[in-house]
Amino acid sequence: MNREDLQAKYRAERDKRIRPEGAEQYIKPTGKFAAMFADSYAEPEPRDPVADDVEVAIVGAGFSGLVTGARLKQAGVDSVRLIDRAGDVGGVWYWNRYPGAMCDTAAMVYLPLLEETGSMPSAKYVPGYEIFAHAQKIATTFSLYDNALLSTNITSITWEEEIQRWRFVTDRGDNFTAKFIALGTGPIAKPHLPGIPGLEAFEGEMFHTSRWNYGYTGGDRYGAPMTNLGDKKVGIIGTGATGIQCVPHLSRSSGELFVFQRTPSSIDVRNNHPIEPEWFKTLKSGWQYEWLMNFTTLQTGGFTDEDLVKDGWTDISKRIRDRVVALVTERGEYTPAIQQEAYEASDDEKMEEIRARVDAIVQDHETAEHLKPWYRQLCKRPCFHDEYLASYNNPTTHLIDTDGQGVERIDATGAWVNGVHYELDCLVLASGFEVGNEHARDSGFPIKGRNQLLTERWADGMETLHGLHVHGFPNMFVIGIAQAANLVSNIPHNFLEAGATIASVIRHAIDTGATVVEAEPDAQAEWVRRIETAGRSFFGNTECTPGYYNNEGKPMGRREHMNSAGYPDGAVAYFNLMTQWRESGTFEGLRFS
Ligand code: NDP
Repeated sequence: MNREDLQAKYRAERDKRIRPEGAEQYIKPTGKFAAMFADSYAEPEPRDPVADDVEVAIVGAGFSGLVTGARLKQAGVDSVRLIDRAGDVGGVWYWNRYPGAMCDTAAMVYLPLLEETGSMPSAKYVPGYEIFAHAQKIATTFSLYDNALLSTNITSITWEEEIQRWRFVTDRGDNFTAKFIALGTGPIAKPHLPGIPGLEAFEGEMFHTSRWNYGYTGGDRYGAPMTNLGDKKVGIIGTGATGIQCVPHLSRSSGELFVFQRTPSSIDVRNNHPIEPEWFKTLKSGWQYEWLMNFTTLQTGGFTDEDLVKDGWTDISKRIRDRVVALVTERGEYTPAIQQEAYEASDDEKMEEIRARVDAIVQDHETAEHLKPWYRQLCKRPCFHDEYLASYNNPTTHLIDTDGQGVERIDATGAWVNGVHYELDCLVLASGFEVGNEHARDSGFPIKGRNQLLTERWADGMETLHGLHVHGFPNMFVIGIAQAANLVSNIPHNFLEAGATIASVIRHAIDTGATVVEAEPDAQAEWVRRIETAGRSFFGNTECTPGYYNNEGKPMGRREHMNSAGYPDGAVAYFNLMTQWRESGTFEGLRFS
């Protein structure tokens, strides 16, 4: 297909999918749906309420909290408390136990603190349970279970100026204070449900992928077959990174499987392989930092002597980069148009490969046609899988394509698409999560700083210094990706850097006897200005098919831009800037008093 026809096809496919409600189409898991999201994996352990004072309290015990806790312990700060509503550490890897859960960012760079914990990943890409076990290992290595409050919901956090402490109140009767707080609530912590009329009416078994009911399906997260599904009609709604990982397992186990598709994902080769212990032993001390920076450099269009990770992420960016180099050499100058041309040519090539892969694997022609993605690869999260497409060769697995419209409605016994009723015993919702910092979305528990709630402070979008500090919220650190590196291909790398910065600031405060650390208003305003005036990233691209990368296709206002934009010079520049900032020891932009 020539470029013009292709663009017209992309536009037509996008237009079909634009919904006036944008991100509001999703249902929050409250009211009648709240019970679906209880922690079915752990019984809260009985304990007395705590009423003490700690040096640092960290909200969230996923990788952001764990890594920050580890960095603090390394810096000699021992009084650290993790708080999480989950019954264990691990964050998304605690909750997401669906069959086939894996990370398709390479484990050598995805799993934080491998050297510090003396760990070796089993394979290039590792399963969710191995990632969860690694989270637990970080907690034990750095004694982060001591003092932690798990199965605990925070109800409020308030800065008390007279004692220069943050006060925590929880649903377990706790009422304690902390000198410093770090917010590690994660970018995809809150599941949401598809806005399909009648969803609540379904009388069969229904659960979200982040609360898999193995009691109903049989099997387990380690891959045991879901034997209870052998005589069941199972439906799954959602074909994003989660849905495509579940489908091969459901396909093998279910009597019949109906996959309700609104938009097909791009499914590139994964090509997993075990990691050889002998090879791993040859790595020199400091290897993981080198791998992290190598991946990030290549993944964001930079140059390195070699590609250490060598995967689909680095492949995408190297193709673009090499084309830019060729065009600049040919034309003797660099212009932004060259960047765009290189990007489009690389993307056309890649998406043709992805569509050809569908034809090569899926035997039924019509099904193959429906599984082909018609958008630029980075419009949605690229997916990598070697079994998903072949699932459709299983005669009991049916693709129900909704031509971009989604499931029409649900009733007591099943789902309707194009006027056809599909009877179901079980409905799996792979419908994703609210994305971004929850306090920027007005959906967190109240955090009150000097005079204001954080949600009010950020009503017009996040405002920070370095993505970490907020004026008016002393001794508070945000651990996230927005207004910072914004490296979406390897989320824990963002946290490793944030953790190092937080630990060095707190260490400096302790060493100098400072009781309050706060962003200087001018420094914060300057950082905000840089983020504000940064060119809108690709992720705000309204040419793209809708998804959470582009605010579901709705133009981004200031609020959406500020809540999602990163440092304008990119992840590598941000990491380097923060390293220099920490090492300078002057902590410019912060006031210690
Ligand atoms: P997504 O938000 O990516 O996917 C939600 C899916 O639900 C989409 O396919 C969406 O369709 C579909 N959907 C929503 N509403 C309807 C409807 N009314 N009818 C039919 N379909 C509907 O969520 P995921 O849980 O898949 O992934 C979330 C994120 O989690 C990923 O992007 C990734 O960052 C992370 N993740 C990472 C993994 C890894 O390997 N590292 C693995 C799994 C998840 P449409 O596309 O049309 O909107």
